[in-house]
Formats: sequence, C-alpha cells, structure tokens
Amino acid sequence: MSEIMRPMPFARLMNWALGEYSRHGSVFGVRKEKFYVNESGKRISIFGQELGSPIGPAAGPNSQLAQNIVAAYFAGSRFMELKTVQKMDGEELRKCVPRPCINAEDEGYNVEWSTELTVPEALAEYVKAWVAIHVLGKAAGIFRERDFVFNMSVGYDIDGLKSPKIDGYIEGMKNASTTDVWREALAWLKENVKSIPNVDAAFIDAIAPQVSNSVTLSTLHGCPPDQIELMAKYLLEEKKVHTFVKCNPTLLGYEKARALLDGMGYGYINFDDHHFKDDLQYADAVGMLGRLMEYAAARKLSFGVKITNTFPVKITRGELPGEEMYMSGRALFPLSINVAAKLGKDFDGKLPISYSGGADAFNIADIFKTGIQPITVATTILKPGGYGRCRQLASILEPLMRTEWKGIDKRALSALADSLQTRKNYRKEHRPAASRKTAEPLPLFDCYQAPCKTGGCPIEQQIPEYLSQVARGDHAAAFRIIAVDNAVPSVTGTLCNHACQGKCTRMDYDSPLHIRNSKLIAADAAQKAFTKALTPPPARTQKKAVVVGAGPAGVSAALFLKRNGVSVTVLEKRERPFGIVEYVIPEFRIASGAIRRDFEMAVKMGVDFRFGVPAVSDIAALRKEYDFVLLAVGAWKESAPAVNEGGEHMVDALDFLERSKRAHCRVDIGRKVAVIGGGDVAMDCARAAVRAPGVEEVTIVYRRTREFMPAEAEEIRLALEEGVALVELLAPVKCAPGMLRCERMKLSDRDASGRRGVVGLGEFVELPFDTVICATGARVDGAVFDAAGLKRDKRGRPELTGGNEASVGGVYVIGDCKAGPSTIVAAVADAKRAVKDILHKLSLADDFVKMDVPQDREALHAKRGVLRAELAGALDAERCLVCDQLCEMCCDVCPNRANVRIAVDGFRDKGQVVHMDALCNECGNCGIFCPHKGNPYQDKLTVFDSEEDFRDSKNRGFLKKGADAYLFRLEDGSEIACGLGDARVPAQFAAVVRAVEKEFAGILF
Ligand SMILES: Cc1cc2nc3c(=O)[nH]c(=O)nc-3n(C[C@H](O)[C@H](O)[C@H](O)COP(=O)(O)OP(=O)(O)OC[C@H]3O[C@@H](n4cnc5c(N)ncnc54)[C@H](O)[C@@H]3O)c2cc1C
Ligand code: SF4
Ligand code: SF4
Ligand code: SF4
Repeated sequence: MSEIMRPMPFARLMNWALGEYSRHGSVFGVRKEKFYVNESGKRISIFGQELGSPIGPAAGPNSQLAQNIVAAYFAGSRFMELKTVQKMDGEELRKCVPRPCINAEDEGYNVEWSTELTVPEALAEYVKAWVAIHVLGKAAGIFRERDFVFNMSVGYDIDGLKSPKIDGYIEGMKNASTTDVWREALAWLKENVKSIPNVDAAFIDAIAPQVSNSVTLSTLHGCPPDQIELMAKYLLEEKKVHTFVKCNPTLLGYEKARALLDGMGYGYINFDDHHFKDDLQYADAVGMLGRLMEYAAARKLSFGVKITNTFPVKITRGELPGEEMYMSGRALFPLSINVAAKLGKDFDGKLPISYSGGADAFNIADIFKTGIQPITVATTILKPGGYGRCRQLASILEPLMRTEWKGIDKRALSALADSLQTRKNYRKEHRPAASRKTAEPLPLFDCYQAPCKTGGCPIEQQIPEYLSQVARGDHAAAFRIIAVDNAVPSVTGTLCNHACQGKCTRMDYDSPLHIRNSKLIAADAAQKAFTKALTPPPARTQKKAVVVGAGPAGVSAALFLKRNGVSVTVLEKRERPFGIVEYVIPEFRIASGAIRRDFEMAVKMGVDFRFGVPAVSDIAALRKEYDFVLLAVGAWKESAPAVNEGGEHMVDALDFLERSKRAHCRVDIGRKVAVIGGGDVAMDCARAAVRAPGVEEVTIVYRRTREFMPAEAEEIRLALEEGVALVELLAPVKCAPGMLRCERMKLSDRDASGRRGVVGLGEFVELPFDTVICATGARVDGAVFDAAGLKRDKRGRPELTGGNEASVGGVYVIGDCKAGPSTIVAAVADAKRAVKDILHKLSLADDFVKMDVPQDREALHAKRGVLRAELAGALDAERCLVCDQLCEMCCDVCPNRANVRIAVDGFRDKGQVVHMDALCNECGNCGIFCPHKGNPYQDKLTVFDSEEDFRDSKNRGFLKKGADAYLFRLEDGSEIACGLGDARVPAQFAAVVRAVEKEFAGILF
C-alpha cells in the first residue's frame, strides 16, 4: 500500500478495457446498463464543439487517470474537466497531501488540490484517455461521432503558466501529435486494430490530435485580481484557448455565506472571514469579468466563469488530517448557486456560467434550465453508484438540451437560489446519521453486508429479505420473516428507535428506506392471520423457565422460549403486559391495538402469563421450581435529582407520564411547565404536558445545545412543532415551588465520543414554572439482584456473560434492568441472546433461521447509481438495494478503479473484491463507504505490481514474480515465497489469486 498511483501504459489500459468488455460487457467497472448513448441527437455547443451531454467530472479525483476519464465517458460524461495541473507536481506535491485526503460521507471534504502525477504524466493520461474513448466507445457501439470535450484546468500564477512545464502541457493538449504518448497509442492501435470490434485504420487515423482548445483557470485563495486578469488574458491572447475563470464561493461575502449555511443546518461548519477578505472581491470580479468578456470577444474566443471552486473551512472534527479542508457537495450548493444568481443578475444573463457545486440528480435539471452549462460533478460520483450516477444525470438533461445558448435566465436562477431553504434534501437534517459504518470487522473474503441488518439492527432482523417481500406485496411472507427474529413486531413497527435506518446505504443516495414503517405495514396486513394460525409447539425438554416481568424483554423471551419447545411462565406484578410501553409511553405515540396484537402472539404460542402477582423478590425460591429464571423487571426507579437543592419539588418523568396516560392527558400541572432533559423521555413528557388542560407554556431546559440532544431528531421536531419551547445551555441547580434556578453554560471541547462537554459560566437565572418534570433518566432498583445474590460490577450492574447469564447459574438478566434505560429492540435482543444461551445449554437447536429470498441480480444492478425520492407506504421498500447480496460499493466509489470485483466459485458472495495497489492513492474514499469497520484499500486482498510496493505495504495479498513464483502475505500477516499449489497457501486465498490471474492474463501477468 503506497499512495503513489502508477499510470497504466496505453497497451495495458486498452487490454484491460477491451478484455473486460468482451468478457463481462463492462468497462472499468461501469456495467453495460449504465452505458449512455444520446439517442435523441440533441446537443449543446461549447468552444466550437458539440457535446452529447452537458455533464462530466469536475477537475478532481475523477478526472486524474486515464481509466477514470474513460469510466466517466461510458456512464454519460461528455465534458471532462481534467484534473488541475500546476508547476508543483509529482512527488513534491504528493508530500504536501496528507492521507486520507477525501471524505465524502455527507457534504464532501478534501485536502488535495492539483494532480499528484508529474505534469508530463498528466498530459500522457489525458492523451491516452482521449484516444481510448474514441476507440473503446466505437468498439462498444457508443461512439457515433465525437460528442465530448476535454477541458484543461490550469493554475495558479502567471509564472507557473508561463513555465516550460505548463506551457508544454498546454501545447501538448492543443496538439498531441508530437507527443510520445500519442505515437505510442497510435502505434499500438494500428498493430491491434484487427482485434478491436467496429474499429479500422481509417477510424484511428481520423482521431484528431487536438485534445483540448479550452482552459478553466484555477486560482489559489488570496490570488490578487490583477494576477487573475493577467493569467486569463495570457491564456486568451498567447495560448489562444477558450477560457473560463473559476471563482470562489467567497465572492458571496462572509455574512451571507455564514447565514446561508446556518439557515440550512450547517452551523458546525467552521470558518472565519479571512479568506473572504483576502480573495477576489465581488465588485472587482464584476469589473474584471466584464473586461475579459470584451477581451475574449475581440479575439473570437469564448469566455465565461466557472462557479465555483470548493470552499475552505477549518478541520475541527477530525474529518481529515490537517487544519484546513475544502468543502463540496450539498452544503456547497447554496453558496455556489447564490454566487451564480448574483452574477447572472449583474451581467443581465450575458456572462456564460459553467457550474460545479453540489449538483446531483435532484437539482441538475433546475440548474441546467437556468442556462448554466456545462455542469461538472465530484461529490455525487464519489458516493455509492460512483461513475454510474452520470448516466442518470445525462438522461435527465438530454431532453432539455438546446444547441443555441440563449443566455442565463436570471429570474429562474434567482428563484432557484431563493428556493434553497425549502429543499429538504440540501438541509443538514435530511441525513439522519453521520457515518453508516458498523463495528463489524472487514473480512478478506465474502464481505457483502447489509448494514441495516448486520451492525444496525440489534436483533439482526432480516431487513432486505422482508423489504423485498413488502415490495412484492406479499405481506404474509414478509411477516413470517419478521417474526423469526422479532417477538414484538407491532410495537417495534411503531416505536423502534430504528438504528437500522441510520445505517441504510440509501442514505448515501437519497434517504434511508422506511424500514420501521415497512415492518408495520406487514404487521398491519398479516399479523392477525399469522397469530390465528399459531399453535403451541410441543415441549422439547422437561426443563422449565420463568420470566419475571412482562415488558418487551419478558414477553420476547417467553415467546422465543415457548416457540423452541421450552415451557415458560411469566410473572407480572401489574394487571397488563408490556411494562413501560403499556403504562408510560403516551397513547399518542402507540395505540393499544398494536400492543394487544403482539401480546396475542405470545398468548397463542402458549406462554403462561400470570398478571397481578405480588412483586417477585425471592429468586432462590423460583430457582427451586424452575430451571431458568429470567429477570426482566425494567428500570423504574426515579431519576437522580437534576438539581443540588429542592429535588423534592420536582415531578418524576415516569410518574408524570403514567398519571397522564391513565387520565388521557387530563392532569392538573398548572400553566407553565418545565421539562429537564434532552432524551426521548423528556420529549414525551413535553408533548404530554402540552396536551394537559390549562397548560400555556412547556419548556425543555437542556444543558447543551439541540445538536447534542440524545433524543431522536424526529421526536424533537414533533415536540417543537407542537409548540414546546427549548432553552439551551441552562443547567438547573435549584428547584423551589414555582421557580427553577439555572446556571448558564457554554459548550467546551469534545470528549472522546465527539460530544461537546459544558462548563458553567457562573451566571444564574430564575425561571417561573408551576411544574418541573425531571426526565434525566430512570434508574434500576438493584434490590432484586441483591436478594438473588447476583454479583454486581462497580457501576452496580449485574455481572453477566455474553448470553446474559448472571453469576448465579440459570439466572438471566435482560432488558432495561440489565444496564439502565435502553430501547425496546435492545430488550428483544437481550431476550434473544438469553434464549439462545438456554437452548444451547439444553442442546436444542434454535429456530432463528435465515430466510432466503431470491433476487433478480440484473434488477439489483440497475438500481445502483440511481437516486430516487422516497415513496409512500409499501412502495418505498422497492428502493432497497439488498446490500448483502450485492455490495461492491468500494468498487463504485473508487475514482481510480483500484477495487475490482472478481467472480470466484466456491464462495458465499457472488463476487470477491480485490484491491489493485498500483492504482490507489490512498484517498480513503472506499473506507468511508464500506459498511465494515475496516478499509477496503487496506483490508482486501491486494494485487501488487512491484516488490517495492509489496514491502511498502502491510496489506495481505500477492506479487507474482515468475511462472509459479509468488510472494504472498497471508491472512495472518505471514509472508511466504512459494508456488500457488503450496500447502501453506489457504484454499480460498489460492482460489482468488487464480481467478485474478485468469481475469488479468496478458494484462497484469
Ligand atoms: C417515556 C418513555 C418513552 C420511551 N420511548 C421509547 C421508544 O420510542 N422506542 C424505544 O425503543 N424505547 C422507548 N423507551 C424505552 C423502552 O420502553 C424500554 O427500553 C423497554 O420498555 C424496556 O423493556 P423491559 O421489558 O426491559 O422493561 P419494562 O418495559 O420496564 O417492563 C418491566 C416489567 O416488569 C414488571 N416488574 C417490575 N418488577 C417486577 C417484579 N418484582 N415482579 C414482577 N414484575 C415486575 C413491570 O411491571 C413491567 O411490566 C421509552 C421509555 C420511556 C420511559
Ligand atoms: S438499502 Fe436495503 S439492504 Fe441496504 S442498508 Fe438499506 S434497507 Fe438495508
Ligand atoms: S482504493 Fe480506496 S483509497 Fe484507493 S484510490 Fe480507490 S477509493 Fe481511494
Ligand atoms: S464496500 Fe467493498 S469491501 Fe466493503 S463490504 Fe462492500 S464489497 Fe466488501
């Protein structure tokens, strides 16, 4: 593993692409169904040439190597803004770029800027790509006439531009016929023309050596306006190339940029005003652009502005190494569009604008309709789907293309800028979680994983399987799958905190699947019939179990045990089942019908429920009667007082909610109510309080800020929409009748979990309240553990095995009483673990079986790279990508095509991913999107090109040294030099190596 990319010689590039195309129908991982052909023949004109699609990769990681540009072309890119070249290049530049250098998790960030190759290498890559696109496009039937443009991006100062290195680059691009790489490419083509479908010598001879006649001028932040103008004039006058000047978002001014980002939820993006002061000022820009327009027109060359460069911000949350990074993607969209709108207006629509800044499938039509063209993209194609996303972009724009440019529609552009605050996809809160990565290690083989299920859902619900059935409308089949792992589907279908949705791959496309809702749809449609058909299974053992407490944990454990043939009794001190859910969680969040439905399932399974029994305390006595005792008594002890003084004047959250639920919210709590806390319980208290008669004001008092509230964003939103007020950065210190005294706080540094701490400011306020509800977290009453003689740890929690068994054998502790208030699904997960442990002890197999739902693989491939808005009801399930049957996201998102899928027999997954060391520059992008804890570029089987690179890496993989001579680094890290048949090389490892060799025979080997 080394950050040095090794460009492929033209012969290898072509052999790879042609071989892949003939064997698999794909080119550099872009599958045939993503190939784009403009069937309508519509075109736009630019720089005297015609474009078959007005989109392409922005100068950046996707336009650096020849294979990147080829992949972009096949998927629909026709305007290739090539990665910037400048006088500092190659090793000198690489040394300044820390790794990883890209983080496109949500809005994009990077710490790289111009090509990491040397300038001559970059020229060679672009020339190779130019020739390759002609020939490969023709071979694959895509190329009908040249409908693409290569656009140079150069920077950063006049001396650099005039240097022989950059001058040679520009001249080479203007006429490549004298370059070595051109000669090499054409010679190879002539020699191999017979083996290339649809291509003949005349076609090769007709490839024009003018690779580019246009430049996008890139400038560094702080570049003086006269320098920019000088450079543009130089390019126009001396180099005679069409010129666009790339502008920075700082043209907006600090206040406007800050307000736009804050207003859309990006308040955490950290920057001060120094770039805004140092960069080109708006008035200067207007003057300069006007002069340059005239200057270019006089020379019959095109001139325009490229909106915008990335936006420099401070690194404060460890997104990337270093102190400053460049922002792109959906947070840049409001800034760039506003700059464009300003210029559109001030130039009365006459200044041509090309665009880059958060364009994606949801906004590209609106951008294009304003007259902005071409549009280049980076962040969207660094996300799952990768280059494949270009096809959707090109298809959206094809019907809108017009040959004649009619100027910028400044009204439409202003309207677009004004609509931003209401476009929810671009607001920060649209993405419900930061990272989709799970804690699951990345295996060397068979790594496909549905992160919603593995790592997301605590009970590993078979989510893609049941979603497929919901999408097909087979709710009975869906429900059968759900019921395998979930004993409380209606309750979780309504209330689950749905951690699965925060891991859903769709989050990186558009929005997560409505997984919880799909479960409820299946339960609504099929649970009753499912329950009706249940019959108590016969006992498979004489051993008996008792469960204490009939909350979600107790009901689940009982159902799972009985279903697996273990007789079980549940002792519940209250009159009804479901504990907190039944007695405390407000009716407006869960209807009693859903609770009844789940209870019926356990009853029908034959669980012996006994309600209204005296509170169980004598576990030893139970232990005599039953072989297994499961304690599931919940966490009902009141919260520790949130104040130093006057805690007795506060109302406990659970007491309040129970009282409120019993009285259907008709409780007397005065006019002004405070709720202390920032979790879901606090939100329920506030929403219940709002509904109480006579209440005029309900205020949540929270010591941090909204951003750090542990409650679900959806619950916070609902509370605020219902009129609840939120006061942040106030820590209660004293409560007295009618009054709450609080200290003002400020946020301090982040702790290890990334959450900001708070420090008191020594300033106090007294707020008048009739009722103060304390919702800072219920506690577990440990008396029952002590009575049972269970060992407890330092935090007072019972010491448990991985199967939830306590220090007294046969006694299990599950649900909220295990470690304090948690969630319903965590309670079910605890129950599942304990039941598995008990069944294991009884030598009984459990019935948590994997349900297979066959998938149409072509249909799965077709969904990749296509953004879709969420759909109503059951239809939404159709958006599922079934990630555990088809992942390969690391292959999609790698700009350099360094992760490759290989089909190998004898494995669980249909493809195995191998990593090509020579193509990788350790940008880190594949690590961001792989759902595992690891990084594909470090953890997947690696194909090395040279011993130097092998030694420079710790990756497991191989270097082929001779006919049957290899250097292997095996899964355990050991290194051996031997043949492939050597017994020390594990069979799976050898099988993948063989498959790689077969795939790349004559190309790499
Ligand atoms: C206001 C509020 C809102 C919540 N909202 C959500 C939500 O939206 N989503 C979510 O996932 N989670 C939510 N939770 C958490 C969730 O309700 C709990 O995690 C879950 O109920 C825990 O289940 P349990 O079976 O462990 O305990 P409980 O639900 O507390 O059940 C314990 C049962 O044991 C009985 N019991 C106690 N002691 C004895 C004894 N000695 N003898 C016999 N019986 C006994 C109790 O009466 C009770 O029925 C919420 C919690 C609260 C307080
Ligand atoms: S797309 Fe489907 S399989 Fe993939 S994470 Fe989302 S719900 Fe799970
Ligand atoms: S393999 Fe990963 S780290 Fe390497 S270039 Fe591709 S995305 Fe970047
Ligand atoms: S992203 Fe790549 S390495 Fe990670 S699970 Fe998917 S296929 Fe495997």
